[in-house]
Amino acid sequence: MRKVTVFGSTGSIGENTVDLIARAPDQYDVVALTGGRNISRLAEQAIALDADVAVTAFDECYVDLKAALSGTKIEVTAGQNAVAEAADRHADLFMSAIVGAAGLVPGLRALRHGSTLALANKESLVTAGPHLMAEAAKHKATILPVDSEHSAVFQALVGEDTSAVERVIITASGGAFRDWPMEKLAQATIAQASSHPNWNMGQRITIDSASMFNKAMELIETKEFFGFSPEQIETIVHPESLIHALVGFNDGALMAHIGPHDMRHAIGYALNWPDRSHLPVERLDLAKIASLNFQHADETRYPALRIAKEVMDNGGLSGAAFNAAKEAALDAFLASEIGFLDMAQLVDEVLSALEGENSLGCDIVTLDKVLETDHLARKTARELVKKIAAR
Ligand code: NDP
Repeated sequence: MRKVTVFGSTGSIGENTVDLIARAPDQYDVVALTGGRNISRLAEQAIALDADVAVTAFDECYVDLKAALSGTKIEVTAGQNAVAEAADRHADLFMSAIVGAAGLVPGLRALRHGSTLALANKESLVTAGPHLMAEAAKHKATILPVDSEHSAVFQALVGEDTSAVERVIITASGGAFRDWPMEKLAQATIAQASSHPNWNMGQRITIDSASMFNKAMELIETKEFFGFSPEQIETIVHPESLIHALVGFNDGALMAHIGPHDMRHAIGYALNWPDRSHLPVERLDLAKIASLNFQHADETRYPALRIAKEVMDNGGLSGAAFNAAKEAALDAFLASEIGFLDMAQLVDEVLSALEGENSLGCDIVTLDKVLETDHLARKTARELVKKIAAR
């Protein structure tokens, strides 16, 4: 039995992970499930999977979770520290599926125990990639990618010599506004940005897909996780989202990973790695699909892609500032304080402000520096939101 802990079990990736675990009760033994405010669902999952402990990230939710699990043997804890402490209970695999920078510390703590971390939380690599990878190496821990694009690259590289890789191509659906005229984008509403053409995901990542900030994050993740140079990493718009990524080798071969729009493939691959087990995902009917389309990714339409290149080139603490500014921009868009196109402008301005203060250069990225930069970037973003809203 594989002992598994799921950070963020009540979210979109978390629910898909719970679904796979529930379908194979003989294969997995659940140690901890952590969630946020969706207490009834967290309690249901903990009972269904017979978890040892259920953790809510919010102290004020403790009483409700305790009540929902009364009469069971399931332990209940609460608070951000309690989430991180769940990493101290031995598990063979930790699924990192918390949304946002809050996912960083619990994942790092699991790595420090030499564990295997299945990483969906892309913010961990974007904010603190060099630190995360160094900690994994130091503690002989393993990180497995769960983002579908990175799982695809990982799978295409099995048995390959990475020095023979010329390029990696990450595909992008183009998001909710792929076919919208540019002049209409400034008026895009929250509801319109929250609907993805192909994937069913959490609201934040869906809006990040419409703005291409999600793809920008993935480009940075590719650099940090696989160690490829920014020049080797490309994006292409692929409206069908069936090819998740391609790896090009120095003999001209392109290895593509093709699969359905179902995160349970990448999640299941990580849960069962290095084995492949049967997964309940759709089997593609290629004749029915008939054609696959590709378009250049336009950096004028999607400024997030240009910003990602700058972040990759600058390194240091740029990723931490970028992620925090992007999260703050999304918060401001969701609060109707700024428009859809203002999000990229805000991120650009935060990065320029912090670069101007020489706050982003550093030789060794440590957790303290990352958290400090995150704080500074959010503070700067909040000040700039007021200025942008007043324009
Ligand atoms: P969701 O918003 O659906 O779920 C987030 C999870 O994190 C929930 O369990 C939520 O709890 C919990 N949570 C929220 N805030 C906090 C906090 N401050 N501390 C601890 N836990 C918290 O997100 P997704 O599942 O969509 O995404 C999770 C991660 O995976 C993100 O980093 C995303 O970029 C990445 N990812 C997602 C994909 C997808 O298909 N959804 C694809 C690839 C990567 P609650 O809901 O109970 O409040």
